Amino acid sequence: MTGGSRGIGRGIVWELAREGAKVAFVYRSNTEAANQLVKDLELDQREVMAIQADVADPESANTVVESVLEAWEQIDILVNNAGIIRDGLLATMDHDQWQDVIDTNLGSVYRFSHAVTRPMMSQRHGRIINISSVASHFGNPGQANYAASKGGIEGMTRCLATELGRRGITVNAVAPGFIETDMTEAIRNMAEAEIVKKVSCRRLGRPEDIAHATVFLASDEASYITGHVLVVDGGLTLGGL
Ligand code: NAP
Repeated sequence: MTGGSRGIGRGIVWELAREGAKVAFVYRSNTEAANQLVKDLELDQREVMAIQADVADPESANTVVESVLEAWEQIDILVNNAGIIRDGLLATMDHDQWQDVIDTNLGSVYRFSHAVTRPMMSQRHGRIINISSVASHFGNPGQANYAASKGGIEGMTRCLATELGRRGITVNAVAPGFIETDMTEAIRNMAEAEIVKKVSCRRLGRPEDIAHATVFLASDEASYITGHVLVVDGGLTLGGL
């Protein structure tokens, strides 16, 4: 699981652990939040491991996957969740703004998926779940880098599903709408009421809304679903009144 210390990732770690999975999660900088999550779940007798690594670093995926395999011998589920925004109009978007988002959001999905594929193929079972975004379907000004990364994730999800289905591995994506996390704090402060009006369910999403969909896709009950993008947005993209 990448990006597990805060927000949606924290919600997914929590729900997977509560369902009985041993969960190893990667975080980049917020050691305090990561340690607190481990502590809270250990109090509930859950087995959780926090690993500090930068998913944009090309070496990180192999190192992380090797350390999890060393500790627990197998990996059944990979959730590619870590993501960042570096918004800006294209005319002023510098190369780092573009590349940081592509390396973190899209490059990490390639590298972590690549690192788990052989172990999952040899155990003939696996679940890969990629966290995309409805932003890949919108034309939000200022999000060319982010939308490109998430569109790439959805294309990759379909290709990997085709490649890996015969090996017992399903590959799906979850596309959240507008979720209450640190990532959306600035825009919520500016326009929460306007956004809520556009959501059919008339509320913002919560990390657990995404976590429940992810846990379902990771379950045995979802074994015949692959290459799918599950939109979890309370109806935001329906465009109704
Ligand atoms: P968030 O609150 O900003 O949390 C991001 C998490 O990812 C943190 O745990 C962070 O760890 C980790 N992370 C970021 N960059 C990393 C890196 N380079 N290496 C390792 N870990 C890294 O974000 P969020 O809102 O939960 O978003 C999670 C995912 O959902 C992202 O892929 C995002 O694009 C997607 N999404 C979010 C929304 C939304 O409305 N919030 C909507 C659609 C899609 P540290 O704290 O330790 O740095």
